[in-house]
Amino acid sequence: MSGTFMGMPAFPKAARDAVRDTTLRGNLRHATRTIRAKRAAAVAELEDWPQLREAGKQIKDHTLRHLDRYLEQVEQAVTAAGGTVHWAADADEANRIVADLVKATGETEVVKVKSMATQEIGLNTALEAAGIRAYETDLAELIVQLGDDLPSHILVPAIHRNRGEIRDIFRDNMASWGRPAPEDLTDRPADLAEAARLHLREKFLRAKVGISGANFMIAETGTLVVVESEGNGRMCLTLPETLISVVGIEKIIPTWRDLEVFLQLLPRSSTAERMNPYTTMWTGTTDGDGPRTFHLVLLDNGRTDTLADEVGRQALRCIRCSACLNVCPVYERAGGHAYGSPYPGPIGAILTPQLRGIASEVDASLPYASSLCGACYEVCPVAIDIPEVLVHLREKVADQGGRGHRLEKAAIKAATWLLDHPAALTAGERLASRTRKLHPERLPGPGTRQWTNSRDLPDLPAEPFRDWWKKNHA
Ligand code: SF4
Repeated sequence: MSGTFMGMPAFPKAARDAVRDTTLRGNLRHATRTIRAKRAAAVAELEDWPQLREAGKQIKDHTLRHLDRYLEQVEQAVTAAGGTVHWAADADEANRIVADLVKATGETEVVKVKSMATQEIGLNTALEAAGIRAYETDLAELIVQLGDDLPSHILVPAIHRNRGEIRDIFRDNMASWGRPAPEDLTDRPADLAEAARLHLREKFLRAKVGISGANFMIAETGTLVVVESEGNGRMCLTLPETLISVVGIEKIIPTWRDLEVFLQLLPRSSTAERMNPYTTMWTGTTDGDGPRTFHLVLLDNGRTDTLADEVGRQALRCIRCSACLNVCPVYERAGGHAYGSPYPGPIGAILTPQLRGIASEVDASLPYASSLCGACYEVCPVAIDIPEVLVHLREKVADQGGRGHRLEKAAIKAATWLLDHPAALTAGERLASRTRKLHPERLPGPGTRQWTNSRDLPDLPAEPFRDWWKKNHA
């Protein structure tokens, strides 16, 4: 069973530990730089990319504005097509619903399509507690699961592992989960893929229950869509008799026409492909084709609270492409685990504190896990202004008396008082000008000394500006 993010330290400590790991940094640097360059080339091929991006943004905003209506439409369409819809207010309820549905089938194991929603709710751990074993079938998720590890990237959860590490994980752990890896397994990508293929194949062929998320839900027909690169998802979505899909309520798009926009935006932004290799769609159940029973679990888990925040709600436009992770200088150095949730990088820094709230030290630290350089906003295919939301969330953390910001708050309080008292401000400016020769060139204190070692403090003028103005423009 993969580990859990519970109990992880706040971002500053976790990131400090991560940047000391030179292997991790090397793995991340190599992977993010490669995909970054490929994405830029794939996007540059489309002249109408800005228009597509704007269309994606507007479709999502429109849907979020009328989410109540579209959710009801999805429920009616899925039910009419032979599926059953369940509503889950939070992670516990979603986990309980899924565990009960699996138990009702009499099965004790399930195969899973890679899904961020099920990671968010900790489904595998909940299923294990209910005596059900969940097998991850996405290659990178399999590596994470076999390594008793945590995902560190939305698209490539094992991005922090190199080929040698993956070979060792397969050799050491595959046997305890099913078919063992070959004794002479090398670290060649083709050999590793073949070992995973053989290991997973026996699971696909005996699985009676599949669990998935979905990239999109099309309201007009109740159709769910999963896009992927390996075909493992297609196996899970078609071979089992029962399919359970756990989907965040923000994944709705109104029509098939809208899907056209996202099937262009998503692959180019995520894997830098013009088209993703496998796009699987299903609408309820169909006799003689695919699962005979279909359950859709619609997950809230903090999304309606996020929707209520006028600035923060744009995070719900996210289509989980991970482009923002790949360009982020902070993510490239700190890695995904430091963010303390399955959503790492810039999107994690704005989504997690909204879904979970900012009560804990970990969640309150996330809006500060950014240099606000804006690279994430530039590449986001649905134009989420991540820096804007980060600053907005920082305000919230500061307002609730967030730890570590006492100095900042004291400085702002002092400045507020000074600006409210013009006479004191003028006296202070004159005093500062007269004593300017006595001012230190470096600031004292451990953090500030280092900062001013490489930066010059601005020179103060011999005369305050307002005195000069009075003299020359009286
Ligand atoms: S915030 Fe934008 S760039 Fe980042 S994962 Fe979501 S859609 Fe992709």
